[in-house]
Amino acid sequence: MVGFKLRNLGLPLRTTMPLVATIPEPNANVEVREVPFPDLELNSALLEVELSEVCGTDVHLQRGLLQGVPYPLVPGHVSIGRLSAIRGLMVDVNGRPFKEGDLVTYLDVHRTCNACWYCLVAKASTRCPYRKVYGITYGLADGLCGGWATHVYLKPGTHCIGVDARPKTFMAGGCALPTALHAVERGEIRLGDTVLILGSGPVGINTILLARMSGALRVLCIGAPEARLEAARQAGAYATLNIETNDEQARMDWVMQHTSGRGADVTIEVAGVAEAVVQAMQFTRDAGRVVVVGQYTDHGAIEFNPHSDLNKKHLEVRGCWGSDYSHFYRGVQIVSEPATATVWEAMDLTSFGLAEANEALAKVASGEVLKALIDPKR
Ligand SMILES: [Zn+2]
Ligand SMILES: [Zn+2]
Repeated sequence: MVGFKLRNLGLPLRTTMPLVATIPEPNANVEVREVPFPDLELNSALLEVELSEVCGTDVHLQRGLLQGVPYPLVPGHVSIGRLSAIRGLMVDVNGRPFKEGDLVTYLDVHRTCNACWYCLVAKASTRCPYRKVYGITYGLADGLCGGWATHVYLKPGTHCIGVDARPKTFMAGGCALPTALHAVERGEIRLGDTVLILGSGPVGINTILLARMSGALRVLCIGAPEARLEAARQAGAYATLNIETNDEQARMDWVMQHTSGRGADVTIEVAGVAEAVVQAMQFTRDAGRVVVVGQYTDHGAIEFNPHSDLNKKHLEVRGCWGSDYSHFYRGVQIVSEPATATVWEAMDLTSFGLAEANEALAKVASGEVLKALIDPKR
């Protein structure tokens, strides 16, 4: 690697080293550590983190539930901050060079190769085997690669995007926004559709917002707890149902009441339990569409009846894995546009410092907070 010390850039000598909050190994508590400043390779940058987030994936990472994750790990895959040092050239998608001080976010997916069979033939770049994800498949050994830190090292080839929105507004969407955007794209919602969302976490709330923007006349949401259902209604859900107080039959009856007895035109599963996938199939009308998003970690196997739940229904069931630059880019544009940003500006966010990351994980796991942010300056 071509080394280049930050002090060679003529920056004021730093007396404090970067701090990271790291998961040392699966099922261990998060620890705050000091790490040295990186050497900047050509066409790379150092980001001073303003905000990062704690999402359901981070809870799964702490429990060791994702494969191919190198520990110790610094979580935080979607973050926003200011470019504090650039070596060489970093340009945006329009070819404009970034400069130090710019407020940016970056696509957490790095090194999608655009040369393999999945990239070039299947055109399914989220299945590229060479892709690496900041805060998930890059560990501490790869450098400052997670957002739960004062600094992130943006390696050469990282796709940065300038952000006009306030950092908090952008983070209200966070990683959930591109995920939801991809899900809604896979759902191919048509004008006037009734869309059912199973799950009311951050991805669910963002999916409600984007389903409405995509032309859904009514969005129904089944989830919990009540505070999240209230957020779902504020996001534009026509009606919500609490999963904790309604059994499977009650949920089915409720969906049928709202859909003239047919089921939803499109159902998007963002619940993260295997049973929800079968219910998504059963709650969807014949010849409708189901998008499975909430199974990013392995929630186990589930039985379904291929005759009555799938074939006889003439149903289309689609998986939806990760997100690519286009989803991320369009998400940033949506939250940067004043007319559409207001709903994200109004979202309920709870900030935690690096030393409070364990508390943040616990509150995300229990659903006590809608969205937890990591603010390394706290
Ligand atoms: Zn590839
Ligand atoms: Zn996430």
